[in-house]
Amino acid sequence: MNVLVINCGSSSLKYQLINMNDESVLAKGLVERIAIEGSVLKHESVKTEKKVFEQEMKDHKDALKLVLDTLVSPEYGAISSMDEISAVGHRVVHGGEKFASSCIINDSVIKALEECIELAPLHNPPNLTGIAACKEILPNTPMVAVFDTAFHQTMPRKSYLYGLPYEYYEKYGIRKYGFHGTSHRYVTLKAAEMLGKKPEEVNLITCHLGNGASIAAIKEGKSIDTSMGFTPLEGLIMGTRCGSLDPAVVPFLMEKEGWSTDEVNNLMNKKSGVLGISGVSSDFRDIENAAEEGNERASLALEAFRQRVTQYIGAYAAILGRVDGIVFTAGLGENSADDREVILKPMEAWGIKIDPENNNTRGKQLFITTQDSSIKAMVIPTNEELMIARDTLELVK
Ligand code: ADP
Repeated sequence: MNVLVINCGSSSLKYQLINMNDESVLAKGLVERIAIEGSVLKHESVKTEKKVFEQEMKDHKDALKLVLDTLVSPEYGAISSMDEISAVGHRVVHGGEKFASSCIINDSVIKALEECIELAPLHNPPNLTGIAACKEILPNTPMVAVFDTAFHQTMPRKSYLYGLPYEYYEKYGIRKYGFHGTSHRYVTLKAAEMLGKKPEEVNLITCHLGNGASIAAIKEGKSIDTSMGFTPLEGLIMGTRCGSLDPAVVPFLMEKEGWSTDEVNNLMNKKSGVLGISGVSSDFRDIENAAEEGNERASLALEAFRQRVTQYIGAYAAILGRVDGIVFTAGLGENSADDREVILKPMEAWGIKIDPENNNTRGKQLFITTQDSSIKAMVIPTNEELMIARDTLELVK
């Protein structure tokens, strides 16, 4: 049985076709610049190495059609007909308080998702567009929605409420929702396996450190707090997002610079973070290179980023009490030995002992602390697509 996993952004569509008999990836790719000049599909499959198709795609439906045609193409594809796609799993960013787990998509789910648009105006509309395109092209194939927010719905009220008058939570749903839930859930399950325990027996701190970054406190397998909030802007300093600020900075800047809400939102989401501090790049590799060449602001950006990660780990250890594992995942978490070392260094005082050899091994699931370390730390490559495909299979079975 094959599951097609789809992740739609405003001008992009990422996909993976997974054979659920052995969880192998049959094909994967990315469409970029949908509805923009220069639309392009980058595709690879069991039959072909990376292929690039440049073709006008005026909307997500065009993009999906091209993806499906490519998947069934005798030369580049992986299947002989669309009937070999048993189900489609969609990544959906925001499920609000309505969705605490994945669900089969029907008309009432679509309606509920439309009601969540206000909470995620940038993300949910393209997700819904992708769902609509699939429904049109594959009307008889069951579809499942997997939410970025769902895993964090177990947070207690004391974690998710902000210190605002309660009426704004009731009126507008202003609260912490948390994101990257599919990744935090995936690494939680893997970490439990590595520790030889059941998920409900482990307390973890999971660090998803990519361009967007978030940390979660996992108690007995469930999320009890996370660093991202009402939107993915809260928490850590990220590639281009500022992370947590004194909220008074926002009206101050708007007044001083005469900015609109869109302008200040743009600044905080796209021009801040390590890009804003360093003035070099939003890509951590570029910043690390610049820092090595003596660029002081690049070094400062790295130090500020790393210190925030350490602070969250400390804060979450305090609310968890017992910590069985600290997990590093996503682009930077999986690949940067230096970052992991600097982040964990202050915790040597707690008896955490880094294993330098393991910490320097790239791209593998492994422990990066020694046998006698008081708390284990590990690298676990995340796999959100596989998690989406597993949920999809489970629900359509
Ligand atoms: P996203 O899915 O949020 O775009 P990823 O999880 O793909 O992000 O992570 C991308 C980030 O990971 C980039 O900023 C990249 O620089 C960083 N990264 C990848 N490899 C390394 C590395 N070896 N050292 C430092 N940073 C890395």
